[in-house]
Amino acid sequence: MSKTEGPPEGWSPARSTALYQIAGWGEPYFSINAQGHVEVRPDPRLERRIDLFDLVQDLEARGLNLPLLIRFSDILADRIRRLNEAFAKAISEYNYDGTYQGVYPVKVNQQRHVVEEIVEFGRPWNYGLEAGSKPELLIALAASQDPGGLIICNGYKDENYIETAILAKGFDKTVIIVLERIEELDIAFKASEKLGIRPTLGVRAKLTAKGIGRWADSAGDRAKFGLTATEIVEVIDRLQAKGMLDCLQLLHFHIGSQISSIRPIKTALREATHIFVELARMGAPMKYFDVGGGLAVDYDGSKTDFHASRNYDIQEYASDVVSAVHEACKDANVTPPTLVSESGRAIVAHQSCLVFEVVGVSEVPIVEPELPGPGSNKILRDLYEAFTGVTSQNVQEAWHDASQAKEEAFTLFKLGYLSMRERAEAERLFWACCGKFLNIVRRLQTVPEELQDLEKVMAAIFYCNFSVFQSAPDSWAIDQLFPIMPIHRLDEEPTRRGTIADLTCDSDGCIDHFIDVQDVKNVLELHPYDPTKPYYLGLFLNGAYQEILGDLHNLFGDTNCVHVQLGREGYHVAHVVKGDSITEVLHYVQYNPESMVESVRRQAERALRNGQISLAQVRLLMRHYEDSLTAYTYLARNE
Ligand SMILES: *Cc1c(COP(=O)(O)O)cnc(C)c1O
Repeated sequence: MSKTEGPPEGWSPARSTALYQIAGWGEPYFSINAQGHVEVRPDPRLERRIDLFDLVQDLEARGLNLPLLIRFSDILADRIRRLNEAFAKAISEYNYDGTYQGVYPVKVNQQRHVVEEIVEFGRPWNYGLEAGSKPELLIALAASQDPGGLIICNGYKDENYIETAILAKGFDKTVIIVLERIEELDIAFKASEKLGIRPTLGVRAKLTAKGIGRWADSAGDRAKFGLTATEIVEVIDRLQAKGMLDCLQLLHFHIGSQISSIRPIKTALREATHIFVELARMGAPMKYFDVGGGLAVDYDGSKTDFHASRNYDIQEYASDVVSAVHEACKDANVTPPTLVSESGRAIVAHQSCLVFEVVGVSEVPIVEPELPGPGSNKILRDLYEAFTGVTSQNVQEAWHDASQAKEEAFTLFKLGYLSMRERAEAERLFWACCGKFLNIVRRLQTVPEELQDLEKVMAAIFYCNFSVFQSAPDSWAIDQLFPIMPIHRLDEEPTRRGTIADLTCDSDGCIDHFIDVQDVKNVLELHPYDPTKPYYLGLFLNGAYQEILGDLHNLFGDTNCVHVQLGREGYHVAHVVKGDSITEVLHYVQYNPESMVESVRRQAERALRNGQISLAQVRLLMRHYEDSLTAYTYLARNE
């Protein structure tokens, strides 16, 4: 591509900061330093920073190959602190006569080291855990060693789940069983009779108020979860009949995840606080008001109600919850409850980023065209004319001429009037035109609609050593946007525009939607690729949901993962979780690698006997086969 005219003052890290919106989505943890590298400030209370590029090189030197998931424990601690401090501030501002006791929903990231860190960092605030299934309850019971935090049991439950929860309440924990379906009440009655322990119960209300965006249907009359008003009244009556109304202490609702606008949150709070005071009036000793999850993350940094963003911050959220409950309880003369939120995404999204490497680029070939010879086809001369004659005034017309000439060239070829060489020349001329048009279009104030796609048509494909399905499944499944950018060379102008393709042989294994201030970009600004030097990209804010939803498409397994903690000086690697080896992923799909080796060896021996392969070749084949079994599933860099 002929080079874009550089800006007069040259490129700078500050221009990269603006281009990649890092101040919007990265604050206060990620920024760009004077070397043009992404820099991490894991604990915003301290000045200490980690150069992400240097860190990756350091980790690679320890044999931790890319793709690499890096977790910053101090960011996780900061997220928990922020949420708790926001509620504390709101509680004191409103003189609210109750406390906040959040729980972390285990489903958002169940990795042991993450959950253990959450329990540790949350201890000062009695931060608890939320389970959405039986396996998650088992995690919650094992992970919360001290009785401080709540354990909230959501999800569909069987006898075993409910009995386990009731028994755990029996020793020292505050375990609350939230009824999601009316049938669970019968199971709870039976279990409590059998065990002689009274359960602490909650009800999940099916609100009329709906969320927004992708998860809007988590609430509303036809929602999958929760009890209708009729069912809640039935729960009250049946509890009363059994003399167990004192067991009902919590109201729960959840209107979906990534609620990008504060409006539906306020509406839901209004409805839920009414249900709460009604429950109290009907005689239940209501102690907890649980607002569920939904606190959103600003993935694109735009601070709008766009689905990848949010138009409010944690403080506004906390203040709205506190004030709504405060008002409702004051008006109804009901004791203010302990406030509970189940914020997952907002706690764990920021703490991790994936770093991966570009392994190759496919670009539209652009060469300076030569004047077609005297006897050449008119089509070629037309294309050449479009190339030489284009100006910023007539670019749209030149685009029409060039596109038409290209179409005609293909028709002539099909009819046998154009040779293969002439067709190739037409293609080269057309791409040369597009390159020149694009340079003009990029400098226009307003771009005619039909030329807006030129950027996408001309985009390079950057092939990268990772799997979208394993590391960013929501990018594929629900078009979720994550901030993606180079982690170095940010003092250099990114003159290329590209999309990202992963290693899988699946055309869906690509990323062609990127964050933008306005809407969404189809191409990402990247640097010219030099195969002799590493070029690292980072995918940020991927700590929520991605790891567990990730799959083994093409048998690309879990990536290597490290936990980095700030030390007294610099940082240290607290845990290394090695990614899957090929043997491990083969076991997941029921292969036995030993018998696979045997099978290949037998075939090689046969080929050797038949003289199809030499002894040295057999040895090399078996060595590659056996070495690969213990290797990482991703590409290894050539040494
Ligand atoms: C998924 C879920 C959460 C977490 O939601 P976030 O949007 O990640 O905060 C909380 N509570 C329940 C019941 C959930 O299903």
